[in-house]
Amino acid sequence: MDRRELKKLYQSTEFKRQYTYEKHDLGAACTEKGTSFLLWSPLAKEITLRLYADGAKGGCFREIAMQKEAQGVWAHRTDESLHGVYYDYKIVYPWETVTSCDPYARACGVNGRRSMAVDLRRTDPDGWYTDDRPKKAAETVIYELHVGEFSWDRSGGFSEEYRGKYKAFTEEHTTLFSDRVHPTGIDYLKELGVTHVQLMPAYDYGSVDESREGGFNWGYDPENHNVPEGSYATDAYHGEVRIREFKEMVQSLHKNGFRVIMDVVYNHMYSTDCHLNKTAPWYYFRTEENGAVSNGSACGNDLASECAMCANYILDSVLYWAKEYHIDGFRFDLMGLLDVGLMNRIRAELDRRYGKGEILLFGEPWAADETAMEGGALPALKKNAGKLDVNVGMFCDDTRDAIKGDVFLEKVCGFVNGGEGFEEAVLHSVRAWCTEDGEAVAKAPSQIITYVSAHDNWTLWDKLAKTITDEKTRIRANKLAAAIYMTCQGRLFFLSGEEFARTKNGLGNTYNAPIGLNRLDWQRAYAYEELRVYYQGLIALRKQLPGLCDKSERAGKRIYGTWTKAGVAGFFADNRSETKHSRWAELCVIYNSTDTAVRRELPEGNWELLLDGENSFLWREGIGVTVAEAAPFRALVPGKRE
Ligand code: CA
Repeated sequence: MDRRELKKLYQSTEFKRQYTYEKHDLGAACTEKGTSFLLWSPLAKEITLRLYADGAKGGCFREIAMQKEAQGVWAHRTDESLHGVYYDYKIVYPWETVTSCDPYARACGVNGRRSMAVDLRRTDPDGWYTDDRPKKAAETVIYELHVGEFSWDRSGGFSEEYRGKYKAFTEEHTTLFSDRVHPTGIDYLKELGVTHVQLMPAYDYGSVDESREGGFNWGYDPENHNVPEGSYATDAYHGEVRIREFKEMVQSLHKNGFRVIMDVVYNHMYSTDCHLNKTAPWYYFRTEENGAVSNGSACGNDLASECAMCANYILDSVLYWAKEYHIDGFRFDLMGLLDVGLMNRIRAELDRRYGKGEILLFGEPWAADETAMEGGALPALKKNAGKLDVNVGMFCDDTRDAIKGDVFLEKVCGFVNGGEGFEEAVLHSVRAWCTEDGEAVAKAPSQIITYVSAHDNWTLWDKLAKTITDEKTRIRANKLAAAIYMTCQGRLFFLSGEEFARTKNGLGNTYNAPIGLNRLDWQRAYAYEELRVYYQGLIALRKQLPGLCDKSERAGKRIYGTWTKAGVAGFFADNRSETKHSRWAELCVIYNSTDTAVRRELPEGNWELLLDGENSFLWREGIGVTVAEAAPFRALVPGKRE
């Protein structure tokens, strides 16, 4: 059958009625008491389960005919515990016979070719049972990290055998070249004050050969969505090792006060030559009317999130990571390729299990290209924010580009580096684009991820370098950029190393560049100490400003007295809190990107300086002021004492 015939079949009412499987128990489940294998494969005529002793080599030691059950599910159940046994399926269709691993695999052998039955309780590290997510912080400050990049550079002082691995996150008190003076790794992150660590793809992806050391990729090319990536494990051959080490990483981050967000890529697969397509040919992928494979991801294919079994696959995967790995948040890659209905359903299921908004959910509200979404489903694009739950967040490209300029056009500047006409956009950014004039992008600040750099495109430092040649001026612009977005009402996010002028030598999408270019260079954390400490102060101050941390629909009303002139934007903020003590009842904020000082009278009251363009720790010193004067190219924030 060709793709068009298959799609027609899948879209028929009869097929949906007969084959939609609503239980959430697909895959292999293994305990001491037995093992069950359940596979959804509605068009198969015959399926053989094949068991192997090894994850890659050798023939099978047993073949078992799977039994066909209802709704297109095939099953084998045994009271034997098959923990550590590898498996795949031989699937016979009327037109061909294929071999496939399990789409719902929870463990696998090297490079994910064979799945593995795993008794998950046997992968729990000591103390896992009592692992708990850290208490919610006053504000969400997300730090985007790549597992490999974090600990690869020798300056980090990590153990040689853990460099680039999950295990590096379990090493505490690492220091610069082990000098015992300058913290790196976990201790460094604590000092910086971020609250969430966002891991770039750490599920099993396809672009790195796990059988060889030294491969590198960002990992936006999923193979097994429910298995940790093998190249970050100390042993990629034994399926249980990567699972345990991933859990140890989460456990250590939790213990040190960080919540953990996973970057998840459910919009496409590494290749259509994958388990999903082998077990249900062309069910899970969108196709154009002429039969061509839809490619809105620009990665060769798009998953059909709007189809019932694909939606279940994605939902089950998210719930699995939250439950089994204690993950605290999910960042959806190209969320605009998924549909609003599914995102809201995931939100509701997480809320039901863990409490409203407790697990963070956000994504990129765009796609790389047009996609052939089926059945009139609504894509989770920025323009549909109003249809998304108030706790489904979106990366805010408008804020990003208004502050430092276009991400694709290197000479195009934003507010901090000489761009003109961004004053209003900066004020919109402050209110997280929740305006009352019908132009609102978001319903509440909870829907907005406020940022100026992420793994994509140039680092902030490199973008600024393309527009500002003098390094001193660049640092000043960097500080102004940071002061702006860290006084906006959305959730805060930045790429690891932004705080120490991270560079990728002016390159943008370095997804497959050598790790030597991508790695975090811990020496820069101390070479650019002044900048880093400025970030540290901003983060510490931010957590004390409930007026800016407010994520409710009413938050925008806290911002008043906004004013602009060319290159300058300012506002006042109501900084009182009903629930906790606030040191400052009112804030005055000025962003000055011009070469002359800007003065502003302050209303009656006991005002003191909280931060200026040089020092973000002024709030510790109680320096009284009666007039707000922002120096050239600087931000300024006085606060009125309660
Ligand atoms: Ca892999």
